[in-house]
Amino acid sequence: MSELNHALEILQKQGIKKTTQRRNILDYLIQNRIHPSADVIAKSLQMNLTTVYNTLDILINSQLVYVIDNNQDGKKHYDYFGHPHYHVLCRNCGKIVDGTNIDLYNFPRLAHEDSNFLIEQTSLEFIGLCEDCQKLLLTHST
Ligand SMILES: [Zn+2]
Ligand SMILES: [Zn+2]
Repeated sequence: MSELNHALEILQKQGIKKTTQRRNILDYLIQNRIHPSADVIAKSLQMNLTTVYNTLDILINSQLVYVIDNNQDGKKHYDYFGHPHYHVLCRNCGKIVDGTNIDLYNFPRLAHEDSNFLIEQTSLEFIGLCEDCQKLLLTHST
C-alpha cells in the first residue's frame, strides 16, 4: 500500500471524509519532507491559505500531521507524521532535520506507565546548531 493510501485509511477509520484538499496536502507532505510552513504549502499547491490552515487543523487532529512551532523563523512548520520520528532544530537558521535512529515506538507506553496518562501524541525535539552555523558562529569567536 502506498503511504498516501495508508494515511487516507487512517482518516477513514476516524470517520473523516477524504476531500480533494486533504488528499492533496497529505500527498504533498508525504512527497516533500521539508517541514514547510502553511504559506509554502499554499503556494506549491496553488491553494487558498485559509483552506490550507483549515485542512491542516483536521489533519493535525487526526495525528497524521505534526506541528513544529518553536522554529527560529517564528512560523509553524508542518510534517507528515504517519510514522513517528524525532526532530533536530537549528536555533540559528531554523533548519529542521528528521531523526530516525531512535525508535519512538515504546515511548508512549513508558510515559503511560510513569504517569497513568492516556498518551495521545509523542514528540521529541533536539535544539542546537547545524553544521553550517557551527562554522559560522563558532570559528569567529576565537
Ligand atoms: Zn543552522
Ligand atoms: Zn519530520
